[in-house]
Amino acid sequence: MSNVADTSTPGPRRVAIITGAAEGIGHGIALRLAKDGFDLGLFDLSRAQEKLERLAESVRGEFGVRVVNVYGDVSREEDVERLVETVVRELGSVWAMVANAGISMNRVLHETPTEEMDKLLGVNFKGTFFCYKYAAMQMIKQGNGGRIVGASSIAGKKGLPEQAVYSATKFAIRGMTQCAAMDYGKYGITVNSYAPGVIETPLMGYLDEYHTSKTGQPKGSWTQSVSHEPVREVVEPPLRNGAQFNSLSVLGRNGQPEDVAKLVSFLVSDDASFITGTSSDHIL
Ligand code: NAD
Repeated sequence: MSNVADTSTPGPRRVAIITGAAEGIGHGIALRLAKDGFDLGLFDLSRAQEKLERLAESVRGEFGVRVVNVYGDVSREEDVERLVETVVRELGSVWAMVANAGISMNRVLHETPTEEMDKLLGVNFKGTFFCYKYAAMQMIKQGNGGRIVGASSIAGKKGLPEQAVYSATKFAIRGMTQCAAMDYGKYGITVNSYAPGVIETPLMGYLDEYHTSKTGQPKGSWTQSVSHEPVREVVEPPLRNGAQFNSLSVLGRNGQPEDVAKLVSFLVSDDASFITGTSSDHIL
């Protein structure tokens, strides 16, 4: 069994769709799956067009894969339906759906405006639901299995301060993932999610801006408070901040998008055919 898309025999390559691919974790996943030999359907908001075009150009050039970029909003059902339709029309099929797009806003529950709650539910939960739904419909029609992967979070496994709604959306994704795995096992479609802790992406920048503007602390100080010193500084005595070392990551460093991408690369491979319903948190 191969760990990558089978490109050794002539014929169409497998196709993976990645939402929220212009930046952060989605960008890392797109790079990794292109390297694995997948043709790609990339999706993001239209405001991210320049970044997505640049990514598509770079993986076409470096890995010789075909790439179709589609723009829209995952919280709009018609946009996700159009995404799957376009990718099938242009690239022939869908083997993997990586429903990565998501947003984060941190706020104490009673200070959360209803519109903000709706936005989080819309993008994180409904967006993931639409991606699972249209991917599953297409994969069942194709009749040869498939892979669905969603983005949960450490906040989808335990409650954290000021994350009531974000956390609820990520718990929901984990629950939906387990149920969908039960429903689609008989079609050879596996459904899993990743549930990391701190991964260094633009999303962490937005959260830093929110917290530092609220507290008046210098920009970057919030990120630092949830971050980790590089491994060499925390494993060699004296520990500069033992409490921090233990607080979030047992590895003593923040994750990078490519750390999540390596897990996704495995989850969409043939080798992961007996892994379903999981929400992996080994990259906390
Ligand atoms: P990011 O903000 O860095 O990138 C998200 C990407 O999604 C961007 O390109 C953005 O334009 C796109 N996007 C946002 N809303 C969209 C929408 N409505 N429709 C289509 N595209 C949209 O975020 P990230 O840190 O890379 O996070 C990716 C996923 O991983 C999210 O679901 C997030 O909740 C989850 N996650 C992130 C972390 C972390 O520490 N960064 C930890 C756990 C889980």
